[in-house]
Amino acid sequence: MATYNAPLRDISFCMQELLDLEKIRALPGCEEITKDLVDAILTEAAKLCENILQPINQSGDTEGCTWDKGVVRTPKGFKEAYQAFVDGGWSSLACDPTYGGQGLPESVSIVTEEMICASNMSFSLYPGLTRGAYILLHTHGTEELKNRFLPKMVEGTWSGTMCLTEAHCGTDLGLLRTKAVPQQDNTYLVTGTKIFISSGEHDLTENIIHFVLARTPDAPSGIKGVSLFLVPKYWVDEQGNVGNANGVTCASIEHKMGIKGSATCVMTFENARGYLVGDLHHGVSNMFAMMNNERLAVGSQGLGIAEVAYQNALAYAKDRVQGRSLTGTKHPDKPADPILVHPDVRRMLLTMKAYNEGNRMLGCWIAQHLDISHRASDKRARQDADDLVQLMTPVIKAFLSDCGYEVANLAIQVLGGHGYIKEYGLEQFARDARISQIYEGTNGVQALDFVGRKLPAHMGRYLRQFFHPALAFIKEHEANPVLTEFFPLFTKAVTRLQQATTYLATASLKNADEAGAASVDYLRLFALTVHAYLWARAVLVATPKLSSDESVFYQSKIDTARFFYTKLLPQGSSLYANIMAGAKPLMDMKEEAFGPF
Ligand SMILES: Cc1cc2nc3c(=O)[nH]c(=O)nc-3n(C[C@H](O)[C@H](O)[C@H](O)COP(=O)(O)OP(=O)(O)OC[C@H]3O[C@@H](n4cnc5c(N)ncnc54)[C@H](O)[C@@H]3O)c2cc1C
Repeated sequence: MATYNAPLRDISFCMQELLDLEKIRALPGCEEITKDLVDAILTEAAKLCENILQPINQSGDTEGCTWDKGVVRTPKGFKEAYQAFVDGGWSSLACDPTYGGQGLPESVSIVTEEMICASNMSFSLYPGLTRGAYILLHTHGTEELKNRFLPKMVEGTWSGTMCLTEAHCGTDLGLLRTKAVPQQDNTYLVTGTKIFISSGEHDLTENIIHFVLARTPDAPSGIKGVSLFLVPKYWVDEQGNVGNANGVTCASIEHKMGIKGSATCVMTFENARGYLVGDLHHGVSNMFAMMNNERLAVGSQGLGIAEVAYQNALAYAKDRVQGRSLTGTKHPDKPADPILVHPDVRRMLLTMKAYNEGNRMLGCWIAQHLDISHRASDKRARQDADDLVQLMTPVIKAFLSDCGYEVANLAIQVLGGHGYIKEYGLEQFARDARISQIYEGTNGVQALDFVGRKLPAHMGRYLRQFFHPALAFIKEHEANPVLTEFFPLFTKAVTRLQQATTYLATASLKNADEAGAASVDYLRLFALTVHAYLWARAVLVATPKLSSDESVFYQSKIDTARFFYTKLLPQGSSLYANIMAGAKPLMDMKEEAFGPF
């Protein structure tokens, strides 16, 4: 049976030591965000995750959700856990106080999200989708709709969904066929079938508010004819009274590889009444308010699973005895040495640890900028912070979810055959993690977004929000003895990324396939370089504290930074070579040459 302990010490390192919490406290509305308050909130979140959500993770996977004549039931214990989640106020954490929220910063919310995903990824999807739906309506809804729907969503008694995908249309939303016909009373009648809808139907909340992409009768074809509609499961009148069922049914649920406690639904809309949200024909761009939030949340899923997988692999490696150390017995009192003595087991564990801690620093760094982008009184500061968030959103989605799966797979390997069987719970982590590389836009599509939209945006303005601090850091610290062993490697990584960026910008102007061919490698190269920047900053923070009471913790930071720089960052060389090899090896292949032969 897997266990989970929320990594509160490492979270505190990221939020309080690497990043200055005072920067958050200086923002309007965050004056009360002290270290003590943050510690108290995170300690309570850890209790919820360790004591309530984690114990029903494995049973939820075994039992799964069930469907009977349109009624969907979540696994045993989910209802009670959801009630505890709502009673604890976790649904309202980072929501606007106008609608009953607690107004806490995203920086706090994102780390609680990591813990919830680590303890029970399936469960995390129910409140996770509601949070995205809340952001969508908060950003694009009229005051009237916000007042009618947001308070119940913030309270957690109503949940939300995101209804985009149809059988013939996943990545390419311009193909969607669901119709929305305008009525005299300013409502629309929505008809169509959506597939793969997370939390489309379930037994956790009194009402479900669907956000549906659909096409009005006279809409232009393609993506420019798609609009966004709010369609409740049960109708809600102007006074907020909940009425009859609204033509929305769950036709079935999917049987799938992982996240079995999360209901993935086929949803049928038959003349279901709904409201237009935002301007007509701007549905896809409006939906990005939700999708961007979900993409960051998917990053938290990757990190959460990676953390719990690491913890369980580490515990096993300390306990399992097999063979003797190559350099002589380390534990003569035991019949064999713990497998932790073996270099290859250490390679796997350190890879997991380095990715996890690097990704936590990255997630917290971007969450801090999200808070600045929402709250800073200075317009320029808001703009700069938003530029970095925009740039890094596809990186967080794709890199953290790729790492989630890689780390979960490594954890299975550390346990050997015991990782492959169900009892230890490790194979569930790999199955659960896998979807995060696919939904919310596949990681291939994230990479395309990164090179095709984010890099060229505003003549490279987003990009400067990483290169400027990285180059300033080099200038400020190049003679710093603390960083002597890291600096040549960091400088090389930044230079290599600059060269790859210049190549991509030029080559893709001549041939768009060049951007597509390089995109996945480039996104990973970028992520590793950002990790290198954050690890260098972590070394600067940790080194002066090596003689403190927590010397083991700080030494561990420096050792992990060294492992990252010498064993993981060198991937950059092969990624760079792949990028520079261009599109020809992919695109010259004739279709018929793919076989099968
Ligand atoms: C468990 C689960 C939960 C989900 N939850 C939701 C939900 O709540 N709401 C919702 O609306 N959807 C949801 N989805 C759908 C999910 O977002 C889509 O499956 C995903 O976006 C990919 O679409 P697709 O499956 O149609 O694949 P396709 O779009 O057919 O893609 C197939 C492959 O082709 C590649 N590809 C496609 N187009 C391009 C391109 N232009 N350039 C390069 N490569 C390309 C993709 O990267 C992928 O590898 C969920 C899916 C699952 C399995």
